[in-house]
Amino acid sequence: MDLNSIENILIPRSRSEIPELTERDAFLAGGTWLFSEPQPALNRLVDLTNMNWAPLTLTATHLQVSATCKIAALAAFEPPHDWLAGPLILKCCRALFGSFKIWNMATVGGNLCLGLPAGPMTALAIALHATCIIWRPDGTDYTIPAVQFVTGPQQNALGPGEILRRIDIPIAHLKHRFAFRQISLTPEGRSGVLVIGMINQPSRLILTVTAATRHPKQVEFSTWPDDNTLTSKLTNEIPDHLYYDDIHGKPAWRKHMTGIFAKSICTELSNP
Ligand SMILES: Cc1cc2nc3c(=O)[nH]c(=O)nc-3n(C[C@H](O)[C@H](O)[C@H](O)COP(=O)(O)OP(=O)(O)OC[C@H]3O[C@@H](n4cnc5c(N)ncnc54)[C@H](O)[C@@H]3O)c2cc1C
Repeated sequence: MDLNSIENILIPRSRSEIPELTERDAFLAGGTWLFSEPQPALNRLVDLTNMNWAPLTLTATHLQVSATCKIAALAAFEPPHDWLAGPLILKCCRALFGSFKIWNMATVGGNLCLGLPAGPMTALAIALHATCIIWRPDGTDYTIPAVQFVTGPQQNALGPGEILRRIDIPIAHLKHRFAFRQISLTPEGRSGVLVIGMINQPSRLILTVTAATRHPKQVEFSTWPDDNTLTSKLTNEIPDHLYYDDIHGKPAWRKHMTGIFAKSICTELSNP
C-alpha cells in the first residue's frame, strides 16, 4: 500500500552514508511488512538494499547470511551433502507463507527484526546457534547469540539506530541431525507452532520452540529425555503465560501441539 506519511526515502550505498535515525525513521529492507499496513508514525525510510552486501558467503567456519539476503535466495542455496541440517534451511524458508512476491522480496534480516513469533528465519538462526552481527550508529559493531535477538512479539534487542548486518551460522551446527515440525490453523496460514530438534552431541537434545511462544525458547537436555522428563522440563521452562495468543492459535492449542511435536521429534531423533 502507499505510505502517505513518507516524505523521504534515503538510499545509502555505504555505512558512512547511513544517517542517524530519528523516531520518525525506519530502515527499509524488503518492505513486505512495512508496506503492508499504514505507518503513520514514520516520515522517512532508509533503504538498506543498495548497500550491496553479498547475500551469502561461505567461509571455512560459517555460512554468513546478510540481513538483506532475500528469503528466496536463501531457499535457492544448495548446501553440501555432509550438512545434515542443510535441508532445514529450505524447510524454514517454506514456513514463511506468502505470495510469490513476498517470498522474493522479504529478507532474512527483516524477518528477524520484525520479530513476529512466527518468524521462521528467527527459528532457523536460533536452532543453528547463529550469531547476529549488529552495527551501532557510532560505527562500532557487536554480536549477540540469535536466541537473544527476538525478545517479544515485534520486539528485538536492537537499540535506537542499530542495524542487523548479518547472521553467521556455524558450519559445525549445520552438520548435526535435526527434526522439524510446524503447524498452522489453515494450510497457507502463519505458523502457530514451530519446533526444531537438534542433536548437538550423541545424547544432547536441543529443542527450539517458536511461533507457539511470545518469544523464542530453547530447551536443552543433557541426557536423552523420557516422556516424563520431556513434559516436565517443557512445563518448567515454558510457563503458560509465555504461550502466544492471536488469531493464528490459542495458547492452550499451542502448548498442546508443542508437547506433541517435542515427543515426536524425540522419537525421530532417537532412531539413528
Ligand atoms: C501476506 C503476508 C504473509 C506473511 N507471512 C509471514 C509469516 O508467515 N511469517 C513471518 O514471520 N512474517 C510474515 N509476514 C511478515 C513479513 O513479510 C516478513 O516477516 C518478512 O520477512 C519481513 O521482511 P522484510 O525484508 O520485508 O522487512 P521490512 O518490511 O522491510 O521490515 C520489517 C521491519 O524490520 C526493520 N528492519 C528490516 N531490516 C532491518 C535491519 N537489517 N536492521 C534493522 N532493522 C531492520 C524495518 O525497519 C521494519 O521495522 C507476512 C507478510 C505478508 C504481507
